[in-house]
This record gives sequence, structure tokens and C-alpha cells, in this order.
Amino acid sequence: MGELGGGGGDLERERRRLAHAARQVAARGLVVGTAGNLSARAGELVAITPTGVPLEQLSPEQIVAVDLAGVVVDGHGSPSSEHSLHLGVYERYGAGAVVHAHAPMATALGCLLDELPVVHYQMLELGGAVRVAPYATFGTAELAAVTLDALEGRTAALMANHGAIVYAGDIDAAVERMLLLEWACSVYWHAAALGSPRTLDERQLAAVGSEIVRRGGYGALRGEER
Ligand code: 13P
Ligand code: ZN
Repeated sequence: MGELGGGGGDLERERRRLAHAARQVAARGLVVGTAGNLSARAGELVAITPTGVPLEQLSPEQIVAVDLAGVVVDGHGSPSSEHSLHLGVYERYGAGAVVHAHAPMATALGCLLDELPVVHYQMLELGGAVRVAPYATFGTAELAAVTLDALEGRTAALMANHGAIVYAGDIDAAVERMLLLEWACSVYWHAAALGSPRTLDERQLAAVGSEIVRRGGYGALRGEER
């Protein structure tokens, strides 16, 4: 593995954090086998998981570094097949880290819904109702395009018959956000199994937003992302 001059220290730290986060994503049941991928920005570089490697076993040395155009600048393997999607999230939304997973609840609802409605106020962290991007083949520019559109004004999206994606300021926050999305999908799932879930309207969400501002923040919510 080469040294990368100025950004090298940041990159090595991101590699360690990313490998740890990838193992967490697997341990929390958000992916099975080689499904899913994670990345984190380190200056003008992006550290990203390699393609086709089980996340549960990932080590820092396996993390690939690409520049913002997707050219591999460091590492042994090839970057995730979804690297264009990840790079698109950095370019369009100024993210610090991205997690894509085939989390079971999120993936199941992505086979049914066009949008996950706001069934809980914590979904404000996701930007509100979570859109489901139309189905497209994995690793394609088409999948990247429809998924990036679904993220407009949001920090999360479901991907029809595929999985889910979230972004955040850093990789630990992105993993937490994926867990929140999966939890919200589970809440919706359980409620919908018994009837037609009530949803929160714009007025109720605006009141939550005001309360968060009044308190100077609430959990991971600081009021800056919506
Ligand atoms: P990679 O192993 O190439 O990251 O692919 C996994 C995946 O989830 C594709 O959508
Ligand atoms: Zn996938």
C-alpha cells in the first residue's frame, strides 16, 4: 500500500474506521455475504470497500482509495461496483460517508412501496418520507442516477427490489442512520401488518423541528439537515 503524502494519514484513519464500520454493518444483520458497500471521504480521496468481499471479514488493508473521478489511487482490489453511486452522493450532496446495504426490512418494503411514509418523528433525521428509487441493475449508471434523484432533500433512500442507501457526515453516523432506517422500516412493517398506519403530517413534523431547535438539538438531530 502506498503512502499518499498530505492526505495519507487521514486516509489510513478512514481505512481503519471504514473496515470497522463494515464489520459492524455485517454483525448487525444489515447485509449478508458480499452484499452492501461503504465509503468515507478523506479530502480529495474516497476510501471505499472492495467489490465482492464479505463485509464481516473486512480489514483496513482491503479498503480501496479512489479519487473523486473514480480512479483507483491506492489499494490492491477493485472498488465496489457501486462506486459511481457513492461518488455521486459526495458530489451532489456533500456527504462525508455513504452506506449501502441490503437490510432485510428496508429491502422487503422496497419491493412493495413507492415511499416509506413518516410513521415516527425520528424519521426527520432521514429528511422525512423515504422515497423508493425505481429498480435498475446493480452497478449501473442508471441505478446511480435514479438513486441520487431519490435522495433529493433526504439523507436516505430505498432502492426497489435491491436495498437501501444513507449518507451522513462520517461513517459511524452513516451506520447509525442505516440502523435507524431499518428500524423505521420495521416499525412500518409491524404497524401495517395490523392495519393502516397513521402518519405524521407536515404540521406535526414542523412542530418536532421547532422543538429540536428550541432544545438546541435532540439525539443525532441538530436541525441542520432539513
Ligand atoms: P460490491 O461487492 O461490488 O460492493 O457489490 C455489492 C452490492 O451491494 C451491489 O449493489
Ligand atoms: Zn447492493
